[in-house]
This record gives sequence, structure tokens and C-alpha cells, in this order.
Amino acid sequence: MMRRALLEGLGRLLCVAGLARTTGISLAAEGRPDGGAPAAAPRAAPPDPPPRLRPKILLLNYDPRVPGEGGKRLHEVCGWSDPHYLADACIGDLKDASGGYVDCRIAEWKDIDAFPVKKDGFRYTAESYMKCYRDGKGWHQPDGVDYTAIIKEFGLERRVAAGEIDEVWLMGAPYAGYYESTMAGPNAYFCNSGPVEGIDSKRLFVIMGFNYERGVGEMLEDFGHRAESILRHVYGSWEPKPTHAWNRFTLYDKVAPGQAACGNVHFAPNSQGDYDWGNKSFVESTCDDWLDYPNLTGRKRLVTAGDWGGGDCRAHHKWWFRRLPRAPGRAADGKLNNWWPYVIDPNPYPESNGTGGK
Ligand SMILES: [Zn+2]
Repeated sequence: MMRRALLEGLGRLLCVAGLARTTGISLAAEGRPDGGAPAAAPRAAPPDPPPRLRPKILLLNYDPRVPGEGGKRLHEVCGWSDPHYLADACIGDLKDASGGYVDCRIAEWKDIDAFPVKKDGFRYTAESYMKCYRDGKGWHQPDGVDYTAIIKEFGLERRVAAGEIDEVWLMGAPYAGYYESTMAGPNAYFCNSGPVEGIDSKRLFVIMGFNYERGVGEMLEDFGHRAESILRHVYGSWEPKPTHAWNRFTLYDKVAPGQAACGNVHFAPNSQGDYDWGNKSFVESTCDDWLDYPNLTGRKRLVTAGDWGGGDCRAHHKWWFRRLPRAPGRAADGKLNNWWPYVIDPNPYPESNGTGGK
């Protein structure tokens, strides 16, 4: 039921990473732009990450007023979560889970009295949306939004290029048609969905898509899949083998018996299926060793669902994010010992397709 409820609630939002893990699709399929190229001339030393990350967020809250309901906004009429609460709680969880390193700021909040435009130009009106909602059918297809139209409407290329904003959070109702995350800008790559092509913003930026029917746990899950996509790109592959740090971090017992570390967003160390965060079996895991990365000793302990909240999605995702490495310096493999800068702002780092600096 958990899976069914989650998938239904997310509408068309994708959980691609978990799907790929369970269907055996290669996660190493994505090409790197430098793959196979001859040795390049030496380039300048990559920058150290800043002492703290303070990304500036533009939040576009598609939450129209509903006629005949006293001017209430859609989330109130349908009894869904307050978008301000969700945004504040998610920012707080990211700050807490990163030990204060990630301190997101809402640079601007726009309440939009409309629904987002879809790929074929369709927009719900409050009346047509409420009819589908009450009937439980009749939802428009294709469901996906027109990201390029949103980017143009709000001048996002210029605003990102000028450094006014670093990323965009879309809030919306079920069937808003958002991906959980997507990336735009020069050399944008897969970020739990294919990139938005043809956006001349000078810098990469991520557009998150949140559903205010859902909770903070699902927002963290969206961030988790963003992290999975970006780190897979940074390390060049993602497979259940102990061949590099990202692969080792995400091992879980089902795919690597006896070698579980922290697992991934869908799979805790002992999970047998997607979203199985409440599994009460015990497995050995190196999960706490990762709190001291890169000084891994290989020490293990027995873990079970009680370690990450007993099945609560939000608690599991915070547990997982707390273990994401955030030490200074670079490892022998050349990657940052702190993975948060990659996840939050890929621009300074060539290994995350950045072109350097802001
Ligand atoms: Zn998911």
C-alpha cells in the first residue's frame, strides 16, 4: 500500500533511481562529456567548497484561488499541506541533516493564481481542475509541464545568469505535471529526469517539483533522488559493486550480502523492496563508519528499521542524508570529501559539468 499510495500521490512524479535498481537497468549508461577523450592539458586546481552553502531559491507556488470557496487557495479547499510549512520544514531538515552546512534561503516567493502550463499549452482552470478532482477522473494528457515556457515566463535564464537565484522550487497540486527534479543550463544532465534543453542561463540550475498534497518526507525523497543522480554523474557510474565511494556508500544487503553500507533513498541497508524502510530484520552495515568519511575503518554493526525511524519515510531520509560525507578536502580519487556541494551547486566543479565559479 505504501508504494501504491506514494505513486498515486505523486501523480506522474518519477522514482527512476529505485525503478532502475530493481529492474536491473544499468545506472552506468549515462555518458560523460569527457568520456573517451584523449588526455587534456592540465587545468587549474578545482576550487575548494565554501564553508557553508546558502542557495537562493525562487519558489513558484501554483496555488490558485478557487471561485465559490470564499477565495480560498486550492491547498486549503482540498485540505492539503500549507506550502509555507512544507518549504520551511524541508529547509530545516536539510540544514539539520547536513550539520548546518546547507542553509537554503527563499530569495523570492511567488503565489501564482493559476495552474502551470502543460507541454501542449493546456492549463487547468480552478473549475476544470475541481471537476476532475471531485469526479476522480478526466485528468488532462499529456500531464507534463512545459518547463521551457515556465523558464521564459519568469525570466529564469537571466535571473540565474545574474546570480539572483540559484535554483527553483515549484509547488503544485496532484497532476501538476512536475518531475521531482530536473536540470537546466549549459551541459545539463539527467537529474531524476532528462534535462531541459536549450536554456542559456550560463550556470546550471535545478528545478524541484513538489506536491503539496504530500509531506516533508516526499520532499526529502525528491532531494534524495537529485543527490543520487548527481553523484552517479560525478563518480561516472552507479552499480552495486564496491568499486568507488558512491557505489560503496549505497550498498545494501540484498544486492551485496554482508557488505551493506547506507543504501539508497528507496532501499535501507536491510530493505527487500522499494520503500521497505520498516523491515525489522537485522543486517550488518558500515553505515556509522560513513560519519567519519574518508577515514573508513570497515567497522560494522547490526542495524534494523529502528535505526532509521521504523518505517517513517522522513526519518529514513534524514538518517541517510546525515551519513552523506561532508569532510574537508579531496579524496585520492580526486572527488570532494564533502558531497553536499555537488548536490546543491554543481557549477564550480568540472566533475559535475560545472564550468567553474558562479
Ligand atoms: Zn522515490
